Amino acid sequence: MNPFDPAPSRSVRYSRQEIFLPIGVAGQQRLRAASVAIVGCGALGSQLSETMVRAGVGRVRLIDRDIVEESNLQRQTLFVEADAAALRPKALAAKARLATVNSDVVIDARVEDLNWDNARELLQDIDLILDGTDNFDTRYVLNDLSIESGIPWIYGACVGSYGLVLPVLRGERRTPCLRCVLGDAPAAGSSPTCDTAGVIAPIVQVIAGLQGAEALKILSGRMEAVNVGLVSVDVWTGQHDRIDLSRTEPSCEACVSGVFVSREQTEGEAFLCGRDAVQIRPPARGMALDIDDFAVTWRALGDVTLSEHVVRLREANSEMLLFRDGRALIKGTTDLGRARSIYARLIGS
Ligand SMILES: [Zn+2]
Repeated sequence: MNPFDPAPSRSVRYSRQEIFLPIGVAGQQRLRAASVAIVGCGALGSQLSETMVRAGVGRVRLIDRDIVEESNLQRQTLFVEADAAALRPKALAAKARLATVNSDVVIDARVEDLNWDNARELLQDIDLILDGTDNFDTRYVLNDLSIESGIPWIYGACVGSYGLVLPVLRGERRTPCLRCVLGDAPAAGSSPTCDTAGVIAPIVQVIAGLQGAEALKILSGRMEAVNVGLVSVDVWTGQHDRIDLSRTEPSCEACVSGVFVSREQTEGEAFLCGRDAVQIRPPARGMALDIDDFAVTWRALGDVTLSEHVVRLREANSEMLLFRDGRALIKGTTDLGRARSIYARLIGS
């Protein structure tokens, strides 16, 4: 080997992780062979995906339905001002940044809304699912899919200065799921969100750190080391709590009898995104809209911005994003009827 070769060998790159005995060389090889999906590439997703990519997990899939906005930059560390200015989808902006961090990792970016209909297709070849979402609807889809498929997942949530983590294991070591611990999903709008209560970056780093550590254990094959329990942290008050669930049997309907609420929920074409926004699904799958045409037509209505992937219209008190596949996000409303009528007026039904 040429001693002046600038390319570091893999053992140099991951040496500090390999020296760490609980992972070691064998654990590093397992990470290399593993795949992880990060659902939601916002604040938690930024931290989680960067941790997984730097750690040398072989395949990383990024799934996110939204674009980068200026209000994201305070905590979503993968993104820069140019991403917001260009209306870049978060999954693609994250992939571009992460590809420069570690070219050894295969990064697969999907600009999609994960729901029960496409969850299997998006996650079936994955070893671990990491929760970077901001809403319970998607989390309960992940939870149900995990129970059905046996793929473990790690719940993570932050609001204000407070956050929660819960690893859900399947297979040989079956642990209580999110439904076992929290019951049925709270209705959208019933609990505080980052849009209503704000969020500060340090709690994101703590929660993503706890999720990331459990992820490294699972992916390097150290299942016995996983901290099975619900951890809560408040970085403002300094409170830390942990409910140990290592001796608790799974008990919910989904775990015991395979009754999946997500499967039965037909969300319809319009639903709340768990914040001040409504998503409208396209009338048909596989649509390819000419968003450039919409951009031209809409200029008479308000402030229009067109990018490669999306067109945005800002009117008096609402904002609409239209993706090429016909999916739309209508921001500034929680009224499904109003959102549907905006969609019908602007795009047709
Ligand atoms: Zn359960």
